[in-house]
Amino acid sequence: MAKILCVLYPDPESGYPPKYARDSIPEITSYANGQTAPTPHDLGFTPGALVGCVSGELGLRAYLEGLGHELIVTSDKDGANSEFEKHLPDAEIVISQPFWPAYLTAERIAKAPRLKLAVTAGIGSDHVDLDAAAKAGITVAEVTGSNSISVAEHVVMTVLALVRNYLPSHEIAVRGGWNIADAVSRSYDVEGMHFGTIAAGRIGLAVLRRLKPFGLHLHYTDPHRLPHETEQELGLTYHPDAASLVEAVDIVNLQMPLYPSTQDFFNDAMFARMRRGSYLINTARGRLVDRDALVRAVESGKVAGYAGDVWYPQPAPANHPWRTMPYNGMTPHISGTSLSGQARYAAGTLEILQSYFEQRPIRDEYMIVAGGALAGTGAKSYKLD
Ligand code: NDP
Repeated sequence: MAKILCVLYPDPESGYPPKYARDSIPEITSYANGQTAPTPHDLGFTPGALVGCVSGELGLRAYLEGLGHELIVTSDKDGANSEFEKHLPDAEIVISQPFWPAYLTAERIAKAPRLKLAVTAGIGSDHVDLDAAAKAGITVAEVTGSNSISVAEHVVMTVLALVRNYLPSHEIAVRGGWNIADAVSRSYDVEGMHFGTIAAGRIGLAVLRRLKPFGLHLHYTDPHRLPHETEQELGLTYHPDAASLVEAVDIVNLQMPLYPSTQDFFNDAMFARMRRGSYLINTARGRLVDRDALVRAVESGKVAGYAGDVWYPQPAPANHPWRTMPYNGMTPHISGTSLSGQARYAAGTLEILQSYFEQRPIRDEYMIVAGGALAGTGAKSYKLD
């Protein structure tokens, strides 16, 4: 029987289960590109429940224990004495979420001789050393598409929040103030501004579609151009690279995957190309942005606001400078784990496990690494060097 080691974020500080604000969530059965939402059998939770934390267990326990497998669920993931390291040597499957990543480094993979499958409950498998996983014959899979719209909605929210100066204005109201001039001295309309996304994959394209009605000029760059009809429909301006895009826009959205050659993609040289007073949004990965270069760019006024949902490492240390730098709209990696998003990635995780244990192929669109090489979505969106 297999040991499944699942790392999830801790329970709410107020305890589990929480009182939910709503009684149900809408049922989403397919995505914009025609892909169907996960279709597991015997779903072990009610959609809309908090399953992304330790007590929620992604709703997996009944299914796995019913087959006689052992499920370990922990949030203790870092350091040699962590529960994660304790159970890793005899784990056959590791499940982790990007929000609270159990970093599966080459060193850890070397300590896991039985490991066959690493599942990302969500999207983005950069917390796994994909090269080492490929060499060790480990399959890596993620729940492609599960929370793309959750993230796209977060991006739209932060575009408006930054440009309209929403967070400081809200703070004034909460503190009992009425100082309108302070609130509006950094507040603009987005209408007529130029917005550009670096990568127009599932999330990037969804963001462009959602921003179209706001009357922005829309730009994008991506290694592969979108179909001509999509460019026409959305009025998109294509740029051959990120450097030319950032020179042409007021708001930049970073939406590309993290892999070795995209680390520190946003560095001093890239910031130097931006328009003074640009806004930067990053729900992709924290390591795409040079930590200290961003602080310099914000402090110099080059960047008028930064809304990042992602950090490195995660959780970020309490003294991480992005927590306190001016004009930030930081969040602790929550954009893809709304109750709506987690219902789909938990269902997708179950679907992947059922495919594995029933010896059926895992959907190609969920594959990142298989057979010793990048595969499926991994072959399209990641590089190993
Ligand atoms: P997709 O795979 O659909 O899209 C990624 C896009 O990035 C592809 O179009 C790809 O190009 C493009 N790309 C790859 N390399 C580059 C590059 N060097 N420059 C510009 N574009 C590049 O992924 P998603 O849209 O679903 O997700 C994107 C990322 O968002 C994930 O990798 C993950 O890191 C992050 N994410 C964050 C979440 C959160 O909770 N904050 C949740 C979900 C995802 P092409 O394939 O055309 O070659």
